[in-house]
Amino acid sequence: MFKCYFCQGKTEIKNVDVDFRWGNKLFVIQDVPVEICIQCGERYYSAEVSKKLDDLVKNKAKNPLNTLEVPVFNWQ
Ligand SMILES: [Zn+2]
Repeated sequence: MFKCYFCQGKTEIKNVDVDFRWGNKLFVIQDVPVEICIQCGERYYSAEVSKKLDDLVKNKAKNPLNTLEVPVFNWQ
């Protein structure tokens, strides 16, 4: 079991949706098994998961399951 770097809380693997920024495009990958701190919610991506997210975005960028519209705002 891994301990959270920030709060020393316990972490567990949960399947969550991950927002992944690639250049000026935003990708959402569903059901990614990510290690999450159950106390503060910090997410930890293993090297294996990061690599697979990378590959997914590169290989399937032109063939997504679904496309979401993302509103963009300026702070001021
Ligand atoms: Zn934590």
